[in-house]
Amino acid sequence: MNTEGSSPRKIWLSRAFYAADLVAGFVKGRRCPSCLSSAARWLPTPGRRLSYFFQCDGCGLFFRPTGLLNGPVSEFYYSHLYDAGIATNPIAAGSAELRDRLMAEEGKNRNELVRALFGPPEAGEVGVFGCSWGYEVNALKQAGYTVFGMELSNERRSWGRARLGLPIYESTAAAAADGRAPALVLSSHVLEHIPRLEPVLDELQANLRPRRHIHITPYVEDFRTNGDRSPHIGREHPLGVTSEFWHRWCAKKGFTVRSEQGGSLPATGSFELITTIDTGSTGAIV
Ligand SMILES: [Zn+2]
Repeated sequence: MNTEGSSPRKIWLSRAFYAADLVAGFVKGRRCPSCLSSAARWLPTPGRRLSYFFQCDGCGLFFRPTGLLNGPVSEFYYSHLYDAGIATNPIAAGSAELRDRLMAEEGKNRNELVRALFGPPEAGEVGVFGCSWGYEVNALKQAGYTVFGMELSNERRSWGRARLGLPIYESTAAAAADGRAPALVLSSHVLEHIPRLEPVLDELQANLRPRRHIHITPYVEDFRTNGDRSPHIGREHPLGVTSEFWHRWCAKKGFTVRSEQGGSLPATGSFELITTIDTGSTGAIV
C-alpha cells in the first residue's frame, strides 16, 4: 500500500509531466485522445488567460492535448505520479469510519441513484467500472446487491480484495472470463481520466454486454460560459465527457441514452452529468 503521501518532489515531477504531456500533445497536432480526430474547435475558458482546451468535431468530447498518456509513458505516470497532490489517502487510514465519512463527502454512495435509475437488488448484478478500492461496491453490497468491481490499479484492487473481501477484477475481460454478466455497469468519476475513452467503452460493452449503463462524470456542458467548470479538464482529467459524446456513441451502437445534470457534491460544490444508457441487451438477472 502506498502511504508515502505526496512529497514535494513527487508533486513537482507530476507538474513537469503534465507540462511535457501538453507540449507533446500540441506537437502531435492536438488530436482528440479518444477518436484521434484532428478536427477540433478551441474552447475559450472564462477567467483563464491561457486556455488550451478543445471540442472534438469527431466525437463531441472536450479535451486538452495529451501526447504521452496514450503511450508507454502512461504506465509510469499512473504507477508513480498519478496520486501526487491528493492529500488524503482514505485507504491508507484503513478506518471504516473514515471511509464512510469520505464516501459521504465525495458522494461515493450511489445506492439511492442505482435504485432510482436501475432498480432494487432483484433487477440484476451490478459491475462497477474503475471502482478504486471498492467505495460503491462495498456500499451496494451492504444494500443487498450482487456486485463486483473492476480496477486497473494493483494497489487499490488488492486492498479492496484483501481488506474488504470484495470481488474486484483487473479488467472487463477478466470479469467476463470469470463468468460475470452484469445487468448494469456503473462508473463514477472515472471516464474523464481515460484518454482512449471510446475504444475502452467499446471493449467494455463487448465483454460484459450489460442491458443498462450509468456513467457519472463532472458536469462540463456549460464550459464555454461558466468559469466554475474549467478546473474539471486539466492535469488529471484529459477529457470533459459531454452529453453530445454520449449521444454520438449511442447512435453508433443503436442504444438509447439520456443525460441530465445531477446535484452538487458536498465536498466541492461541483455538479455531475448522469448518463443512463439502455443497450437493448437482455442482461443477466441474478
Ligand atoms: Zn474525438
